[in-house]
Amino acid sequence: LVDIRNVTKSYGSTQVLKGVSLDIKEGEIVTIIGKSGSGKSTLLRCINALERIDGGEITVEGQPVRTDMPNLRDFRQRVGIVFQAFNLFPHMTVERNITLAPVLNKRIAKAEGRALALDVLERVGLADKIDAYPAQLSGGQQQRVAIARCLAMRPHLMLFDEVTSALDPELVGEVLKVMEDMARQGMTMVLVTHEMGFARNVASKIVFMHQGRVWEEGPPAELFANPRTPELQSFIASVR
Ligand code: ATP
Ligand code: MG
Repeated sequence: LVDIRNVTKSYGSTQVLKGVSLDIKEGEIVTIIGKSGSGKSTLLRCINALERIDGGEITVEGQPVRTDMPNLRDFRQRVGIVFQAFNLFPHMTVERNITLAPVLNKRIAKAEGRALALDVLERVGLADKIDAYPAQLSGGQQQRVAIARCLAMRPHLMLFDEVTSALDPELVGEVLKVMEDMARQGMTMVLVTHEMGFARNVASKIVFMHQGRVWEEGPPAELFANPRTPELQSFIASVR
């Protein structure tokens, strides 16, 4: 589904991605781990065409990803991204937050909005909050709405960048549960997370990034039991 070949990316004179290659197959749950500054968020943003790459190539469903691709809007519907900050519009209800983009993009008619919102809210367990405003929701609920908003675009791939990091510890579980359900339903997902339990139990593949490179990758059981490099060994020790 996603093919990342030898991707490089610099900010000014700092090279942040130094030749990253990665394959993501349909239905795979890929978890990216690594120290702060290793390039995890940058890689996700490149996959979604939020950042321009300097070298190499990224294709999604066979199509080369470019920040100036003509059908960028369609592309962004197929590749959803959810960030640490929920980014809901505070002056709009949950329903409006969810239906805004699909209506603007003419993917649905305005009259179909409520049914669509209900459908995706059910998938994150929040159908009863359809008329609430973001400020009336907990952080975990807001993040689940942000995920529902993404689902409303019917994405083929979802990217998650530390979506539980800003949450109070007692709210993390409900968001992870939603992502686990999505994984079980076959959604292809790439997530950056510090939740090692989730990485261990749900991911089909772990990618350990170090200094802008894919340092190690493999199935979680293998990677966590037998880290080959000292860098991964010390990373695992630091998050335990
Ligand atoms: P964290 O775990 O802290 O989120 P990360 O692995 O996601 O880290 P990135 O956000 O990808 O790391 O950043 C990689 C490097 O690129 C860092 O050194 C960062 O300072 C730099 N960087 C990221 N975004 C920009 C930007 N817009 N302009 C300049 N430098 C940037
Ligand atoms: Mg990051």
